Amino acid sequence: MNRRQFLCASAASFACVGNVSAATCDLVIKGGRVIDPSVGLDAVRDVAIVAGKIAAVEADIRGDAADTIDARGKIVAPGLIDIHTHAARVAEGARICLQDGVTGWVDCGSAGADNIDQIAAVARAAPQIGRVLVNISRIGNAPDGELMDINRAAVDLARGAIARHGDIVIGVKARLSNNIAGTNDLEGLRRAQEAAAPFNLPVMIHMGQSFSPMRAILPLLKRGDIVTHMYAPAPNGILDEEGRLFPDAAAARRRGVIFDLGNGGNGHLKWDVVERATEQGFWPDTLSTDWTANSRENPSVIDFPNVMSKFIMLGMPLGQVIASATVNAARVFPAFDDRGTLNIGAPADVAIMDLREDTFAFVDNYKGTRTGHQRLFPVATVLAGKRTPART
Ligand SMILES: [Zn+2]
Repeated sequence: MNRRQFLCASAASFACVGNVSAATCDLVIKGGRVIDPSVGLDAVRDVAIVAGKIAAVEADIRGDAADTIDARGKIVAPGLIDIHTHAARVAEGARICLQDGVTGWVDCGSAGADNIDQIAAVARAAPQIGRVLVNISRIGNAPDGELMDINRAAVDLARGAIARHGDIVIGVKARLSNNIAGTNDLEGLRRAQEAAAPFNLPVMIHMGQSFSPMRAILPLLKRGDIVTHMYAPAPNGILDEEGRLFPDAAAARRRGVIFDLGNGGNGHLKWDVVERATEQGFWPDTLSTDWTANSRENPSVIDFPNVMSKFIMLGMPLGQVIASATVNAARVFPAFDDRGTLNIGAPADVAIMDLREDTFAFVDNYKGTRTGHQRLFPVATVLAGKRTPART
């Protein structure tokens, strides 16, 4: 960009702020409670968008706008980033979760080297930013256990998949539960690290009910790696038999391992584990759904705002709940570097949500319910500065 182009871009960016009547914004989101933890903002603001980018976040933006969204009484947040989904399993997945405010997602291990081309193609065609973790097992997620045969954890094939899809594959996934890996959990994880190392990519592990204890698994994780299903119940969760947090889990967090919710539908989330861990201060770094195209019908998931609302119920401050689904998530993967924020110049991905007060039942993966009094509902999603079709 030369100097003249830069000046034009700057002028365009601020044309709708103040009284420059000749120019227009593409979209103004008016009067919402803007919660943008990336800049520490929680206040009633207007958000102006020009050319797909955030142009201004100000108390009262005047001037013409091609389109306006009345967000009074609503929460205006950066577009949600869901770092544990299976959104690329079906072609329509990305559009469904876009209606929930999800403007970025990661499909975690649906595919291994054998089927990565198809999953990567779905991610590439998604309207929002979709990225993929390749399963260390060449066959991808398999109900009868993709790591039961350790020969399927083929490092060279996984590396080939990463090299072939460098624009889409941003890490490696290893599922370590006993019914998936049997006694191969540690070797599967070692091979995942070996596959990721030359590309300097993180590894995400699916923990809980593993053959090996967390104290054997966690030392194999490096800074930036991710533990998903962090509140999975015993055997081999993050709590000891008395419900105390294993010191190894806190130590892993201190050295930069990320602990992710991974709500899921089956076997991953149990209220008493969540409560014991959070009482000891062990909250998620990131919230995520483990979303699939069937999640609407799963009372434990429904949508990302429902999963986020569980943590409002548990006492996490609203700003932190939103941070865990936006800026914290964006910081896990460089692919999301400029996302999870409404900072000036960022891509204009915005989630508009309604925080309703009522009595709501929140469900874990074991049909356990807890009652909360606030629930976030998705209202509208703006992607790259444009309204997207609302959920019916
Ligand atoms: Zn999953």
